[in-house]
Amino acid sequence: MPKTLRLILGDQLNSNHSWYQNHSDKYLYVLAEMKQECDYVVHHGQKIAAFFLAMAEFGKHLSNQGHKVIYLTLEDTEQYQSLSTMILAIMQEYSLENLEYQQPDEYRLREQLQNINIPSTEFDSEHFLLPFDNISVQFKACKAVRMEAFYRRMRKRFDILMNHGKPEGEQWNFDSENRNKLKPSDFEKVPEPLVFNNSTKEIVERLKKHNIKTIGQLESSIGWPVNRQQSLQLLSYFCQFGLPLFGQFQDSMSDKSPHNWSLFHSRLSFSLNTKMLSPLEVIEEAIVAYRKSTGDITLAQIEGFIRQILGWREFVRAIYWVNMPGYAQQNSLQADHPLPDFFWHGKTKMACMSNAIGQSLKHAYAHHIQRLMITGNFCLLAGIDPQQVDAWYLGIYIDAIEWVEMPNTRGMSQFADGGIVASKPYAASANYINKMSDHCRTCHYDAKLKTGSKACPFNATYWHFMDRHRKRFERNPRLTMTYRSFDRYSSTQKGEILKHGQWCIDNIEQL
Ligand code: FAD
Ligand code: SF4
Repeated sequence: MPKTLRLILGDQLNSNHSWYQNHSDKYLYVLAEMKQECDYVVHHGQKIAAFFLAMAEFGKHLSNQGHKVIYLTLEDTEQYQSLSTMILAIMQEYSLENLEYQQPDEYRLREQLQNINIPSTEFDSEHFLLPFDNISVQFKACKAVRMEAFYRRMRKRFDILMNHGKPEGEQWNFDSENRNKLKPSDFEKVPEPLVFNNSTKEIVERLKKHNIKTIGQLESSIGWPVNRQQSLQLLSYFCQFGLPLFGQFQDSMSDKSPHNWSLFHSRLSFSLNTKMLSPLEVIEEAIVAYRKSTGDITLAQIEGFIRQILGWREFVRAIYWVNMPGYAQQNSLQADHPLPDFFWHGKTKMACMSNAIGQSLKHAYAHHIQRLMITGNFCLLAGIDPQQVDAWYLGIYIDAIEWVEMPNTRGMSQFADGGIVASKPYAASANYINKMSDHCRTCHYDAKLKTGSKACPFNATYWHFMDRHRKRFERNPRLTMTYRSFDRYSSTQKGEILKHGQWCIDNIEQL
């Protein structure tokens, strides 16, 4: 008879966890679809469907292995107000004596579980490379830390792409060789994305029945991987077709190329964040592909990819935990404008914005530069309330879980943490977007103009942003040149640009 409830959260689908290495009747494993997880923000329909499908697949996998599992659908859990009340009810129903759980990655859920008044034990989730205890040793709350130094320590510690204590190729960073724009002559190299055909029919019905509000497109099937086998397939497909040009086109954006929503990106974030894949195995598989390739995958490509997982992903998790719960309230630039309506339907004359938002609604996915330099940049320049920006990002993306979403959004993209993550705001005018994308060519607006009805809104709002935060940023060495070039305009020109910037902010819904 089981004595212990072992709770498995929706992002804890790690089949290699030590919990599952031995079978024992002592444990009852519980996976549950909960309303509280569906409505703390409005999620993309594909995101909820992918989580529920992946949880159900994981439950089946454990049952097939001989573990005792119960899977509760929204139907079964609708009577419970919260996760805690559900746990207490199951413990009573099955006469269980204690609760075991893996450490949740979200502060909110950890608080909830730690506050249940029953004997309980927390286990490591056995997923991340940096042990949880090391976070407070390497990071301090409210203190600016740079990813690069952390990443180099991680490379050394895990001996990844190292050669006798030195970085392979004698360089830590190959960004200067990457960051190319995708030209029409490159279009034929863009791989067709590997998508699966996972039926969502039952889930769609359940969501309707339980009045779960969602955003975005959810059809009768989704293309996201929902089990380990599909995740491994996607990993190997990426190593073969995406990795050879990953770094080179990592920052480029297009609405003219085929498969422009996926380009050379891995789309492994859902598999990683649900722990169907471990970061170490993704890194190792990519390195095997690099070593086997006969020059097809260069060091610049593999380093660019490893940096994202070994560096950024582990880094933002540490930033989250060392700064929570205060991080969720930070608004250092005192941004307070509401999020424009077009974030929910994508209808705007700005081609770059309508493309990034449109594909997010269609696929629950946008790649990093679309999130950072298009939608994030727009919100930063326009001074949108970070609470609303966070809620949008947390809802819309397939991979959005607070520990990774918040430091990226509030920190990196909105500078709301006052510079803990970024040494300067990621603010850019149309010049950057035009350099990295083909959106401007067919846009209603003109990327070169700063004022007038045809002027690209990113230009005047960029200078409006710089001007309204002059006191804070003027002496930042990375922005001195920016202020110097603005000051080269005559005061009449400056006045006109700032006036147009203010007009864009006041008339944001019309842009
Ligand atoms: P690839 O480009 O193929 O990169 C490979 C992997 O590296 C990703 O799967 C991811 O696990 C990791 N990675 C890359 N960049 C980052 C980063 N900055 N932080 C953490 N991991 C990274 N990522 C999420 O997983 N969840 C989020 O909710 C999320 N929100 C974001 C919000 C904003 C405003 C920004 C700017 C970035 C956000 N990111 C988030 C980071 C990044 O955009 C996504 O991880 C990436 O786009 C996922 O697509 P991919 O798997 O194709 O990534
Ligand atoms: Fe975006 Fe401006 Fe370019 Fe249009 S002109 S696509 S709004 S950057």
